[in-house]
Amino acid sequence: MSHLFPTYTRWDVEIEHANGTNVIDKNGKTYLDFVAGIAVCNLGHCHEAVLAAVLKQFEKVWHVSNLFENSLQEEVAAKLVNHSCGEAVFFCNSGAEANEAAIKLARKYTNKSKIITFQQSFHGRTLGTMAATGQEKVKQGFGPMLETFVHIPYNDVETLKQTIDHETAAVMLEVIQGEGGVHLGNRAFIQAAAALCKQYEALLIIDEVQTGIGRTGKPFAYQHFDISPDIITVAKGLGNGFPVGAMIGKKVLATAFQAGSHGSTFGGNPLAMAAANATLEIIFDKAFLAEVEEKGAYFSAQLQDICAEINGFQAIRGKGLLIGAAFDFETTSIIQTLRENGLLILNAGPHVIRFLPPLTVSKAEIDAAVQIVKKVLEKTGSCMKMHI
Ligand SMILES: *Cc1c(COP(=O)(O)O)cnc(C)c1O
Repeated sequence: MSHLFPTYTRWDVEIEHANGTNVIDKNGKTYLDFVAGIAVCNLGHCHEAVLAAVLKQFEKVWHVSNLFENSLQEEVAAKLVNHSCGEAVFFCNSGAEANEAAIKLARKYTNKSKIITFQQSFHGRTLGTMAATGQEKVKQGFGPMLETFVHIPYNDVETLKQTIDHETAAVMLEVIQGEGGVHLGNRAFIQAAAALCKQYEALLIIDEVQTGIGRTGKPFAYQHFDISPDIITVAKGLGNGFPVGAMIGKKVLATAFQAGSHGSTFGGNPLAMAAANATLEIIFDKAFLAEVEEKGAYFSAQLQDICAEINGFQAIRGKGLLIGAAFDFETTSIIQTLRENGLLILNAGPHVIRFLPPLTVSKAEIDAAVQIVKKVLEKTGSCMKMHI
């Protein structure tokens, strides 16, 4: 009998060890891992440089409180700031915590409380970030939600114009909605959100927990849109598997986050900083990011070819190595069959499967994954489209 709260639907696989894009379960079966811990192990599993950095730190000191100076935090913060429009960083341990910090900061700095978020968004599971999330299923049964949030349709400039006002503290959005189904924000919408925030003296918060840290071929996905957000939140890929999150913000906001305003016992812990420092050193390299973009295009193009041939396979969407494939039927059984065939992938809502390989994935591994997808889709009842 399990002694765990049954909060997760678990797959019937237990991973015993992993390296790069490969994971091996306890029966010795090898899989191609295109989940990567949900966009976490962006450098692949057990990456040598991250491992070495963490091991080295393990032998020096594991944890010190934020009562002490911490030059490792400064080093990681400098990397985040040098590759974004932000100027100051707060470290925490997860995506939800990074978003909590952003929500608190926006409310305190603007002295306003209304925050606009979007339908199908996902921002986390804490009381605050659950309320921010635009999905009913996440909130069911938890009673009254924090009243701060107003949810409106994504990519809808008109509704945003009608909803934003001088009472608005912030607009919070993902430039690609990951959990919500891999929906891309369109350029006009994202830029309008930025302009409207300026007009109404509201902060623009970009949730980059899934899209950040190189996933889309840029350090942060907002950089595809020529905007300069006030706050950026990251977590998942930041420590390549070591739990760590961060909120990056403009310097003017620092007046609202002074000593005693906010904090975290573990946030920015030396081990987490060692992992993040080694991870960013590799990922924020221009040549590395160019390869992510190129491999993403290569992968998408091959999926597009399959899409054209299979009934019920509707569309490929995404950017870089965050790719969704939408079907007109439920995808649970496809995901299971892919797994049985040695490819681990994830859903994003009931009709979309999501590919999140490590950014270090090779073209040969992409080819192998494409072959498995092709074989499984051709077999699982989705007959071939007629060629006219
Ligand atoms: C995963 C995710 C979160 C929550 O992160 P946790 O580390 O699970 O708290 C928040 N926002 C987005 C966009 C995410 O993908």
